[in-house]
Amino acid sequence: MLMTDLIAKKRDGGELSTEEIDFMIQGYVRGDIADYQMSAMCMAILFRGMNDRETLDMTLSMLHSGELIDLSGIQGIKADKHSTGGVGDKTSLILCPMVAACGVRIAKMSGRGLGHTGGTLDKLESFPGFNINIGDERFTRNVNTIGISLMGQTADVVPADKKLYALRDVTGTVPSIPLIVSSIMSKKLVAGADVIVLDVKCGSGAFMKTVEDARELARGLTRIGRLAGKKCAAVITDMDQPLGNMVGNALEVKEAISVLKGETKGELLELCLTLGSCILTEAGLADSMEQARARLQESVDSGAALKKLADMVAAQDGCADDVYNTAHLPLAPVRIEVPSCETGYVSHIAADDVGLVSMHLGGGRETKESIIDLSVGLILHKKVGDRVEAGESLAEIHATTPEKAKEAAERLRACYRFSDTLVERPAIIKEIIR
Ligand code: URA
Repeated sequence: MLMTDLIAKKRDGGELSTEEIDFMIQGYVRGDIADYQMSAMCMAILFRGMNDRETLDMTLSMLHSGELIDLSGIQGIKADKHSTGGVGDKTSLILCPMVAACGVRIAKMSGRGLGHTGGTLDKLESFPGFNINIGDERFTRNVNTIGISLMGQTADVVPADKKLYALRDVTGTVPSIPLIVSSIMSKKLVAGADVIVLDVKCGSGAFMKTVEDARELARGLTRIGRLAGKKCAAVITDMDQPLGNMVGNALEVKEAISVLKGETKGELLELCLTLGSCILTEAGLADSMEQARARLQESVDSGAALKKLADMVAAQDGCADDVYNTAHLPLAPVRIEVPSCETGYVSHIAADDVGLVSMHLGGGRETKESIIDLSVGLILHKKVGDRVEAGESLAEIHATTPEKAKEAAERLRACYRFSDTLVERPAIIKEIIR
């Protein structure tokens, strides 16, 4: 088999066989196929597309390119959730304990933040002592005993994606639906869950800018999940502004706790109730979305979901009390308000730029090696649709020095747009794909 023939076949609109796809992926990971040939193939796929059979074959070949994760020691139905990435996205910290409190096992491998988006592992490390490297044995034991564990990846999983994604990033081939689907689903399938729910973000702060594109991606992801034998659903959600009110690691943990305590309602709770209802119904633990929603709400009202988070923190070397009393979580020494220069209705908040404000404060990584400060970030007092008077505070900056706080305030002000006329608040849930 020759890679040149495969490139020409795809260039001319042909369909690659299972063997051809495996030859290409495994050969690329071994270094037998050069970057320039794989780049040409990615571009051919971007223009010609792939059918579901080809996309599934590519996903499975990528999944088998490295070590596999063995979750066979975990009893019961295991669920996983994936978000295509956004700013202020602390959903996992709320959703996972809620779902675990309803009887679904959460054995989740999470990641760190890079660039303007945050990572669940960094957020969890805001709990003093929290250990994300507990090893496979303790991970399995914790899930079996308390129903939930979140940790970093130990095995070298899906090396094909690491290599391919880096190549796509520099060859203009990231926005190809089959390539995105195989990238995301190879990493989700290797983690071994029975139920997978995908939060596909849509809007200016997301990868997919329009509902049409988000729908195409969501359908592609769920089709491949089902073809791979998983229960799968996707929810298309708004990312035209940051999610919730807080951005920054410890701040996002505090906001998540406030939702689990029932103190904060609104879009974050709505998102978690919707994603959680998809999980419970797909897992067969509820007959309808309404029944699932009621059970999830009850997990908040009864304090069971908050207790799940506390149990997980304690089981991973943290202190359960820090969940009930957040005084010991990192707090930045400098806190200033950001007064508005304008009067009107907030019409837009550039989500990715807000993420960059937090990153420049030290809350995110510019490179993989950057050391982050868990205490810094910002609290948005005004969101899209809110009325604001000149001089009224738009947000609060949490910083390490007054200079950094001032610079961040200027940058944050530039993220806001205003309108003289009433602006409708965007709905967080745009569509559910079952
Ligand atoms: N996220 C991924 O993991 N892969 C892609 O290709 C795009 C977004």
